This record gives sequence, structure tokens and C-alpha cells, in this order.
Amino acid sequence: MKKVTIVGGGLSGSEAAWQLAKAGYLVDLYEMRPKVKTEAHKTGDLAELVCSNSFRGASLTNAVGLLKEELRICGSLIMEAADFAALPAGGALAVDRVRFSKYITEKIKSEPLITFHDGEVVKIPEPPCIIATGPLTSKGLAEAISEKIGQSELAFYDAIAPIVYGESVNWEIVFKQSRYDKGGDDYANIPLSKDEYLKFIENIKSAEKVKPGEDLKPFEGCMPVEDMLERGDETLRYGPLKPVGLTDPRTGTRPHAVVQLRQDDKEGHLWNMVGFQTRMKFGEQVRVIRSLPGMENAEFVRMGSLHRNTFVNSPKCLNPSLELRDFKGVYLAGQITGVEGYVESTASGIAAVRHLIRGDIFPEETAIGSLCRYVSDPTRVDFQPMNISFGLMSSYFAEDKASIRDKDQRRLKTSEQAISSLRSFLAK
Ligand SMILES: Cc1cc2nc3c(=O)[nH]c(=O)nc-3n(C[C@H](O)[C@H](O)[C@H](O)COP(=O)(O)OP(=O)(O)OC[C@H]3O[C@@H](n4cnc5c(N)ncnc54)[C@H](O)[C@@H]3O)c2cc1C
Repeated sequence: MKKVTIVGGGLSGSEAAWQLAKAGYLVDLYEMRPKVKTEAHKTGDLAELVCSNSFRGASLTNAVGLLKEELRICGSLIMEAADFAALPAGGALAVDRVRFSKYITEKIKSEPLITFHDGEVVKIPEPPCIIATGPLTSKGLAEAISEKIGQSELAFYDAIAPIVYGESVNWEIVFKQSRYDKGGDDYANIPLSKDEYLKFIENIKSAEKVKPGEDLKPFEGCMPVEDMLERGDETLRYGPLKPVGLTDPRTGTRPHAVVQLRQDDKEGHLWNMVGFQTRMKFGEQVRVIRSLPGMENAEFVRMGSLHRNTFVNSPKCLNPSLELRDFKGVYLAGQITGVEGYVESTASGIAAVRHLIRGDIFPEETAIGSLCRYVSDPTRVDFQPMNISFGLMSSYFAEDKASIRDKDQRRLKTSEQAISSLRSFLAK
């Protein structure tokens, strides 16, 4: 039987291990936690979600909704676990993070073809292997990868959002409602009047912040609120704090701004601050968040914090199969390749395995195929990590769709074509 080594039991590594085992391969899976910790993970479970509990939009008019559907068609363990641990979240797929990771851990550890090893790996294993050590790859291994591919590693920073205890929220002020009533009471909203909003942003601006250690850029899709505010006072009101589609039941009017909370566990004990990634110092977070109406007594389960994320310059060293161009049988998967996000990282694990087993790559009409092409396009300069979007899919710009004026129809048609192309590819 063929044997493959996987380093990293996160989203991409766990998915890759599962796919290989389902194809009858023996797998050696190495995970360094809990022996060696990262700055963001808190447990020793596999596939731990370090920040948001959301897998983002669920609809096929959304590229990440399409990507999730493609993963389900490929028999993804991560999607199976996400669907199992799903929580109410309007049009998004959010999960109970503990149930999610436990489900995956149990499946992987009880799979006879997967041998689990706990401990840090500091050398690139013999091929065939998949390096899936993520944005928080340990220093020793990051150096070994840099040396192997002959480039210094790249990095950016992003931040995580705080989680608060539901019982510490004043539910007489904070109201449950989804935008435009889509999804019932799935979100909770902290309403702000104009004065309260202005005071709140002044509080954020004057708070002491943690600075990135090096001269790093923030990731656009997960930018700390402080960095967003540097672009103008209204940025938050048009971003994560937008009040559209919401009516405060106490006043019968739309608030000037809202800070949203999303349920983070099955029981509704924990609430995640939506889009409120922050690099304020811990004491300052407590002060600033408690200044919000209804949050005067907020108690924190987890504080927001800043992290350095490692990735490689994939266009210079990876094929669309995610195999290193100069080292046959050595694959990278997950965020280290420059794909960004839980779903995207999972997809890259599936893509690497497919090539390892069958020697082919996902069609470019699919979201998985588009993502792999994006990170490996040798003509790309100033490479930066990306979430999936229809903008990465060449089929979205094809003549038959470019003429469709309704955006949702155009996206839906692109998704339908992607799914049909994926089914033919898998049936080959
Ligand atoms: C602070 C932060 C916040 C984020 N917030 C979000 C978010 O809200 N939404 C989102 O979609 N994405 C978010 N991301 C991105 C998210 O981490 C990735 O999308 C996803 O977890 C990456 O999957 P992965 O498999 O590449 O890495 P991970 O899931 O991080 O898995 C990598 C695993 O490898 C292990 N490991 C590392 N080095 C070694 C070694 N040398 N030997 C053995 N094991 C090793 C780690 O312990 C880890 O378990 C965030 C990332 C960070 C760092």
C-alpha cells in the first residue's frame, strides 16, 4: 500500500488525511499541538478554528457557497463536520467550534489507515508528503521550507475578534434579528445612535494597540477595526457595523450603526463579535467594548489579538496541482500556499490529494480549480493571499455569462456550470 506523510492536522491537513485514507492510502499525520503551541490555537484538537466560527455565505450566488458545495461533492470531512455542528446564522454557515473539531478529531483518530503522531516536524519529510502547517507554521519548519524552495518566507498580519459570554450581555438593549429578517433571530445587534457611534470610534482610535512586529501589511479581508478606521470615520459603518436591514424594537427605527454578535456554540452561551477583529491591548478591549450600550458588564471568553501569518510565494514555486515545481511528490496545502480562509484551505487539501493519487488537476471552471490556478500563476507579481471569489473564475467572464445583467443570475449560472464540470471530472 502507498504511504503518504502529512504535516499539520488543521483544516487542510485533516481533510487531506481523510481523502487519502478513503482512497485506500496509508497516512502518517503529524500534529505538534498540544505539545508545541501556536499563538492562536487553544486546544489539542484537530482542525481547530482559530477565529470566527463562520464558513461564510451558504448560497450558490456566493463563490464561497459554491466552493463549499464542491467540497461536499468531493466527500469532504470538513464540510461533513461543519454541517453536523451547524448553528443558526442566517445566510451563512456557522458552527459550534468545539463540536466541529471534536467530530473531526474522532473521525481521524479512529480511521485505521491514518497513524497519528503528536510532535513538531522540523524537516521536510520524504515524498510523497503534504505540508499543511498553516499560517502559524512553526519557526523550524518555516526555515526548512524557505531553504528548500530558495525564497525567504512571506507574511502578513491579521487579527481575531473577541468572544463574550451571552449571560453577560444586557438582552433588554441588545436585540436578536437578522438583516431584512432573513434567518429569523440568528444574530444579535448592539444598536448605536450617531453620538454613541462617534464616541465609540473615538474610543477605538485613542486605545493603546499592539503593533505588528515587522513591517507587515494587514490582510484586507480580515482587517482589524483600528486599521479600517484609519481609512475614515465611516468605514466601520459601511463595513462590519453597517445597520442596514435592522430595526431596533425599542425605538422602531434603524440604528445609526450596530455591532453584531453571532452565536458561537450550540447552547448559545458564547457570542462572537462579527467582523470585529482587533489589535487593541486586552485592557483597552475590555474598556472600549464595555462602553457599548448593553455591554456594560461584558465578560470575555477570548480576547481579540494580532497574528503573523506565514505563506510562500506560490506563483514562483508551485504547480496548479500544489506540488512544488522542483520537488516531485512534495505538496503544500492550506493557507501556507496563499489561499485564505477555512473553506479555501480545505479545498487546497483536496486538490493536492487528487493530484497525488490521480495525477490530474481540477478543471478551471470549478472554484477549487480556479483557486489553485490563482496561487500558482507564474505571471503574478506582488502575490498576496486571496479568498475565493467569482473574480478568480475565468468562466464567470466567459461570453455566455458576461451578457447576463442580473448579477445573481450570472453567479448562479457560473456555479451551475462549475458543479456540472466537477461532476464530470470526478466521474472520469
Ligand atoms: C489569527 C488568525 C485568524 C484567522 N481568522 C480566520 C477567520 O476568521 N476565518 C477564516 O476563514 N480563516 C481565518 N484564518 C485563516 C485560518 O487559519 C486558515 O484559514 C485555516 O485555519 C488554515 O488552514 P490550514 O490547514 O492551512 O492551517 P491550520 O488550520 O492552522 O492548521 C495547521 C496545523 O499545523 C500545525 N503545525 C504547524 N507547524 C507544525 C509543525 N512544524 N509540525 C507539526 N504540526 C505543525 C498547527 O498546530 C496546526 O494545527 C485565520 C488565521 C489566523 C492565523
